[in-house]
Amino acid sequence: MTETEVVIVGAGPAGMLLSHLLDAAGLDNVVLERQTRQYVLDRIRAGVLEWGTVETLREAGLGARMDAEGHVHDTINIAWRGEDVLSVDTNELLGRQMMAYGQTRIQEDLYAAADARRAQVVFEAADVALHDLDTDHPSVTYDAGGGTERIGCAFVAGCDGFHGVSRLSIPDSVRTEFEKVYPFGWLGILAETPPLPILLYANHERGFALCSMRNPMLSRYYVQAPMTDSVDDWSDDRFWTELLARLPAGQADRIVTGPSIEKSLAPLRSYVSEPMRWGRLFLAGDAAHIVPPTGAKGLNLAVSDVRYLARALIASDAGDDTYLDGYSDMALRRVWGAVRFSWWMTNLLHRFPDQTAFDQRAQEQELSYLASSESARRSLAEQYVGLPYE
Ligand SMILES: Cc1cc2nc3c(=O)[nH]c(=O)nc-3n(C[C@H](O)[C@H](O)[C@H](O)COP(=O)(O)OP(=O)(O)OC[C@H]3O[C@@H](n4cnc5c(N)ncnc54)[C@H](O)[C@@H]3O)c2cc1C
Repeated sequence: MTETEVVIVGAGPAGMLLSHLLDAAGLDNVVLERQTRQYVLDRIRAGVLEWGTVETLREAGLGARMDAEGHVHDTINIAWRGEDVLSVDTNELLGRQMMAYGQTRIQEDLYAAADARRAQVVFEAADVALHDLDTDHPSVTYDAGGGTERIGCAFVAGCDGFHGVSRLSIPDSVRTEFEKVYPFGWLGILAETPPLPILLYANHERGFALCSMRNPMLSRYYVQAPMTDSVDDWSDDRFWTELLARLPAGQADRIVTGPSIEKSLAPLRSYVSEPMRWGRLFLAGDAAHIVPPTGAKGLNLAVSDVRYLARALIASDAGDDTYLDGYSDMALRRVWGAVRFSWWMTNLLHRFPDQTAFDQRAQEQELSYLASSESARRSLAEQYVGLPYE
């Protein structure tokens, strides 16, 4: 059995950022990842960073490429009735901005930094299992092709996403789950075309649409679609036709179409598992919570959890367990802020299959209120750019 301070399960953004921050503080750690490195790098996911995430990455020494290639933006645009475009200028309202920089790039930056510091990352670690989490000396077993390995440690960080083993290692009697599954998904494409220069959400009678960007030659577009569809039902032509139909004519005319280089259908779900700590196991990121992508919060929450957890583990190593003992409550306060906001944005912008005429009017009233009230726009802006860290 080998020994380390912290075993981190999962080499996604949460796990790799935690490893980076712990290594910087001299805390020995090993990361166990089920997939290959290339598989993780090829996953196309989030793209809008809260400014707190930008600052966290910069402080960690991970901001150079993000600052060179990322696109700072400060306006959230919402179209509805096929014509009106409402703009929420976060810089004007709050003096705060966001950054468009793909999760794929962040993952590349994290792996490059891990290579440079010779981090201990085991890819293709099969059958990861957590043991003795409610004792002072837990351990983690896995199979990397040559039989079962065991690592003893002081703490386990469960950063293994929604389908990982960590959350399920907490006894059912201790865990409470909160869940809402939405009756539609997002069909997304990546295209190597110049993106619409604005971030545009559309509430349309045909369904929701979103225009976002990754870089000056990489567009990310989504349309609301039933989860009973499959990606094969959506040719590029069908996608572009549907996207353009959901946008105001003035914006649709500016869209540059082209062949997709990636296409996926993602379900929308709100989910929280409490608590985020059990014994010596600490959950961070999607392992503990999922939000629909409408509020662009999933990756940002993973970063804020890790920020709190790294601080807690480093303080504990220096003899102070205050942050460690408060981790779950502190992380959950921010998680629920984002969960509520993402749920609200999802309700505001989508057409639900069972939407009544009353629901429709209420939704339109909410959009009109946003257009007419600076206070309402300020509230949206404050939550979109990210609530402050504790
Ligand atoms: C299709 C899609 C689109 C998204 N779009 C957005 C968006 O627009 N905006 C946004 O903010 N968020 C978005 N998200 C969410 C965002 O990508 C996640 O919140 C973010 O990846 C969370 O990071 P994480 O490290 O916690 O989890 P993950 O990225 O899921 O990483 C977990 C890692 O753990 C590994 N793992 C799992 N099980 C095991 C195991 N048993 N043993 C070892 N390793 C294991 C996985 O292979 C994975 O590499 C999207 C997610 C998806 C799926």
